[in-house]
Amino acid sequence: MRIGIIADIHANEEALDVVLNALRKAQVDQIICLGDLVGYGPNPNECIAKVLENSDIIVAGNHDYGAIGKLPADRFNAFARQAIIWTQKVLTHKSRQAIQNLPLIWDDGRITAVHASPESPENWHYVSSEDAVFRSLMAMTSPYCFIGHTHIPAIFSRTINGDMILQKGKNLKLKADQLYLINVGSVGQPRDSDSRAAYGILDTDQTTFELHRAAYNIKAVQNKMEEAGLPDFLIQRLNVGQ
Ligand code: ZN
Repeated sequence: MRIGIIADIHANEEALDVVLNALRKAQVDQIICLGDLVGYGPNPNECIAKVLENSDIIVAGNHDYGAIGKLPADRFNAFARQAIIWTQKVLTHKSRQAIQNLPLIWDDGRITAVHASPESPENWHYVSSEDAVFRSLMAMTSPYCFIGHTHIPAIFSRTINGDMILQKGKNLKLKADQLYLINVGSVGQPRDSDSRAAYGILDTDQTTFELHRAAYNIKAVQNKMEEAGLPDFLIQRLNVGQ
């Protein structure tokens, strides 16, 4: 089975469309979405509808919870908070209902899907330090754990002896004697200095994982953000992928 993995869409419909198209062309059998469907971008309702329509599994992100008041707005920085408050105003009843029902973590014994970290999904830890990577790797119960939240793609693995390995490269042959912690990066607001939308494809038959990037019409999103009165900082960062 080929599974498309997407995360951190952040109401960026242009980026989401390009990624969904690419996954369709790649003939994936399933799509897993790791949360943060909304926040920052100008099309939260459209993105929720498209993710619901196209994904088989969806977990909640902190911005999703923020947008329906499940997480207080003061837990976000000033720019994110402004976008959360704007999102709260424009979300439809249907969108709110959809978010309300999303779980924090999903696991089928082979794949774990979680927005922030597998050891405590509800605390929204950033898996960005060596310590945090180690804690997540040790908490894993399935061979593949997919995360988002940092908006930076990265692949880590753990051997049977407990050794931690930072995997280099974008195409990986997954070994049967290792556990993999994979951050697929962000569809709608990448922060690894590459402005293109990020996503991943897991092939469970070939036991391979690929990280992909896709260019989208950034200007179109920025124009809509400007019209919506979203913070200039959030508009400009899309250009540089930061
Ligand atoms: Zn995010």
